[in-house]
Amino acid sequence: MRGIYIHIPFCLRKCPYCDFYSVRFDEKTAEEYTDALIRSFELPKYRGLRADTVYFGGGTPSALPSELTGRIMRSVYECFDIDKNAEITIEANPCTADERKLSAYREMGINRISFGVQSADDRELMSLGRLHDFERAQRAILAARKAGFENISADIMLGVIGQDKQSLIRSADRLTELPLTHISAYMLKIEQGTPYDNDRVRASVADEDTVSDMYIELCERLEQKGFLHYEISNFARPGFESRHNLKYWTAGEYVGFGAAAHSLYMGQRYYVPRDIAAFIDAPFQQEIPEEEPHSEREEYIMLALRVSEGLDEKKLISLYGEEGTGRLMGLAKTYEKHGLCCISGSRVSLTPRGYLVSNTIIVEFLHAVGLA
Ligand code: SF4
Repeated sequence: MRGIYIHIPFCLRKCPYCDFYSVRFDEKTAEEYTDALIRSFELPKYRGLRADTVYFGGGTPSALPSELTGRIMRSVYECFDIDKNAEITIEANPCTADERKLSAYREMGINRISFGVQSADDRELMSLGRLHDFERAQRAILAARKAGFENISADIMLGVIGQDKQSLIRSADRLTELPLTHISAYMLKIEQGTPYDNDRVRASVADEDTVSDMYIELCERLEQKGFLHYEISNFARPGFESRHNLKYWTAGEYVGFGAAAHSLYMGQRYYVPRDIAAFIDAPFQQEIPEEEPHSEREEYIMLALRVSEGLDEKKLISLYGEEGTGRLMGLAKTYEKHGLCCISGSRVSLTPRGYLVSNTIIVEFLHAVGLA
């Protein structure tokens, strides 16, 4: 079954490191945007679309008043065929998720919530320009649990100004004491054109080697605390892997709605332009086919090496033949000797050290089958 992604491009304030598509929240634009989303749900080609995941991403979806989120959810149920066991996620900022809103989410069928916590250290949170402190994040997570959420995720960030290994592990420990089922760990990247894109910030963040060491320690710590490392940046208690995000990493299909949303539908990738005004003005969202989509033979290596399941030998043979697979397996054995790869039965996956150099390994694997 497919997934549905809904982009909510509003934030209370722009964080200085962020280049996601979002603008400052204002109620009138949010209402017009909601109307435009609902119009696009009614596109004839998506009528009755069967889906077992729905994901509100952003931006800050929790910046929307719950009445608007409720209208969107009602329309999702009216326009699509949503599986009764669907995973329905909303991303939330700890400052915009109060008890009333969290209960309203549960009532409208949202059963998974993902908080942008980032750190348990208030100085690090301040350097990231976040609006919350850790106490606020803790309160939001506990309130979500009280409201009936049994599947709660939090983000943690590596490479933040002022962060060292000790403070990162302290953040991980404090997070794992909370009723979380899932943790996403992202490395801070200085994106071009953001306020962080300057020499002062570059000089203040940890260097690449230090951040790599932090990543390895974090992976070990989270595993010790019972979180399985199932994707480069994602950890889950058994059975709580993000079903929606797994679609992205296994080339599963999903339809994206909203400005800046992406889709993979009927084998074709599309995107909606990053333009809220155009999205609001159009009768239906404009969907532009992505140029140069990767072939399945390229995508399989690129995607499967991101997840702990890794590459499957039978699938390799079907895509690259016996000879190509032989070359890939030979390469995997070399990487295994260096602690970067793990071969288990008919499966080849990367170790945490391998994830750190995954781009290089992917290029080598593609090269082995004549694709790079
Ligand atoms: S809240 Fe999230 S999406 Fe919004 S600006 Fe900050 S990092 Fe970006």
